[in-house]
Amino acid sequence: MRVLALLALVVTVLLVGCSTPKTTPTTEMIHGDFQEYMKRFQVAHYRTTGKKINTAGIVVKPRNIKPNEHNQVLRYKSQAIGYCIPSSILPVVYIDISTWNRLDDLLREELVFHELGHCLLDRDHCDEHDKFLPLSMMRSGLVPMKYYLLNRELYLYELFVEPACEDKL
Ligand SMILES: [Zn+2]
Repeated sequence: MRVLALLALVVTVLLVGCSTPKTTPTTEMIHGDFQEYMKRFQVAHYRTTGKKINTAGIVVKPRNIKPNEHNQVLRYKSQAIGYCIPSSILPVVYIDISTWNRLDDLLREELVFHELGHCLLDRDHCDEHDKFLPLSMMRSGLVPMKYYLLNRELYLYELFVEPACEDKL
């Protein structure tokens, strides 16, 4: 009887193991995720400025980004995680896919908003601080989540309306 129970357990484990395929991220999945944050960007822009902005036409390409492959690369914990090649015809955002898959919602939002800041708003990096507080999400590293969470509206205003670095926008 014990052998039968054990056999049943083994079969169950094997069946469960087989029925849960490992999900390998595909370009389509990542693009789908990205679209969600681009919609959020449109909403945030409209709520902050009262003007509509079009994110259609932005191409997103997952990639393993090398540390210095672009001069405006965005970093997170010293890892290069994204950059944008602006173009009036076909702007392209490159996202480091292994990092993207590990980021939680708010940091993904920040990453997307930052890259769209380059692609759509023509912003460059702005690393101004007020003591420890970064003044812009257009800095060269992601704003730490605790600051972003507490000051999101200020960062959106800085992004869309009043850049902390004067010569930008
Ligand atoms: Zn950047």
